[in-house]
Amino acid sequence: MFRIDLLPAEFGDALWIEYGSAGKVHRILVDCGTSAVYPVVRQRLQALPTKERHIELLVISHIDIDHIGGALDLLNDCKALGVSFGEIWFNGYIHLTPGGTVEHDDTLGALQGEALTELIVAQGAGNWNKAVKGGALVVPDSGPLLAFPELPGGMRLTLLSPTQVQLDRLKPTWEAACRKAGLVPGKATLADEKRLEEDEAPGEEDDILGDPDVAQLAAKPFRPDRSRPNGSSIALLAEYDGRRVVLAADAFAPVLIDSLSRLPGSGRGKLKIDAFKMSHHASRGNISPELIAAIDCKNWLISTNGKVFRHPDLEAIARIIKGSGPGTVLHFNYRTEFNEMWAASGLQRKHAFKTRYPAGPNAGIGIEFEA
Ligand SMILES: [Zn+2]
Repeated sequence: MFRIDLLPAEFGDALWIEYGSAGKVHRILVDCGTSAVYPVVRQRLQALPTKERHIELLVISHIDIDHIGGALDLLNDCKALGVSFGEIWFNGYIHLTPGGTVEHDDTLGALQGEALTELIVAQGAGNWNKAVKGGALVVPDSGPLLAFPELPGGMRLTLLSPTQVQLDRLKPTWEAACRKAGLVPGKATLADEKRLEEDEAPGEEDDILGDPDVAQLAAKPFRPDRSRPNGSSIALLAEYDGRRVVLAADAFAPVLIDSLSRLPGSGRGKLKIDAFKMSHHASRGNISPELIAAIDCKNWLISTNGKVFRHPDLEAIARIIKGSGPGTVLHFNYRTEFNEMWAASGLQRKHAFKTRYPAGPNAGIGIEFEA
């Protein structure tokens, strides 16, 4: 059994992953949306029998509020809920410097990053980035990618993002945010809901009459995302039971392309991917034609309710429909004014794709692979 649920996480991500057998289910949680989304995550945890409230791995992909906010609540709440973690993966301030490893007492951080650092340390720093001995989760500049030992139950993960370049770029941003917020280095504890940086302006008014013009939208020039926090995203390839899923967080397309090209077997034609959690909520700056062309993937997972940034962008979806060919399925975890134009049956027939929407407004959406 291998299943991924995109919980209704408003404009963020909260990925609930289960794998294993009916007798023994293992769980991974990737991001927890904003703080407002935390009750959704909490409900899922509470629904588990108390002795099953163990998460093999909690990944907090990067410091943006729509990924980290609910994780702060979770770490504040995990004792009360009786939830334990095998490992917690998160690149804190200490990891932005090459060779930086977890120090238990001398961590400078800012805003949520700092607050999260303190919470991770408070629940026991021993499981923080344990897979890399407390060091940074960073893609090596050359040679093989970081492929981790199997998690309990047999899940295999390989790191696809970030590289050291993205961590270097984040450092001054993190420091500036710290100064701006008037935080004393090392003493910041406030879970402030301010954004560290937001390079991206909300999408333009994409008023369209009738069906979107896929060819025209897909042909619009690709302008890459430059947000430093997004670039620092931990992105992963998850492999279980012969299935491969890309969990792209808000990572940069060129970084993902480079890493995918370094996977074993990538030289032999297009890399087969069973599902791809689209980067940055299907923003036009994160889904390039080159990325789509590099892989053979029919299932594209989109996590956003369109709030704040009006995601998904029409160009990103058009590039997927055009680039990944007949049989493409778009899995949306909300039905909104920003994605329901893709439900048009004439459009789907013309371009041979399908859409899936949640059963109800707060049902989220999941994909489960047959054994
Ligand atoms: Zn995001």
